[in-house]
Amino acid sequence: MAKKKKKKEERNICLEKCDAACCKNLAMDILKPKDNWDIEDLKWKLYFKHVKVYIVNNRWHLLFETKCRYLLKNNRCSIYERRPEVCREHSHMECGEREGDWYDLLISTPEELDEYFRKEKRKKKKRKK
Ligand code: SF4
Ligand code: SF4
Repeated sequence: MAKKKKKKEERNICLEKCDAACCKNLAMDILKPKDNWDIEDLKWKLYFKHVKVYIVNNRWHLLFETKCRYLLKNNRCSIYERRPEVCREHSHMECGEREGDWYDLLISTPEELDEYFRKEKRKKKKRKK
């Protein structure tokens, strides 16, 4: 009985308690910039609106804040029955998007990226002393 209730909660949580945050952004794994060239390249990507970088568990990701073309105004998927595998595999049980706690650090502008690396340099200097 308890199991049944849990299943119901699992089934409904996306529909009842979330505005489909997972369908409103696209994230791609990237490598942490390792030299000035990489930093400048990533900075340039942050010149574009709706593009951000986030870091979680020391892994870097490029984030496009744009919604899926198949998302309806009521936050339902218009192709639910034939949605791609990547959508089927994304479980709300592991998803932090709803709570907004899916990253350790969000970098939204080129200036913030510069600041991140300034801090890194300062930390490295301190460690060397
Ligand atoms: S998977 Fe997560 S973000 Fe997507 S609709 Fe469900 S609870 Fe919301
Ligand atoms: S296909 Fe459907 S489930 Fe997948 S991202 Fe688009 S709206 Fe969301």
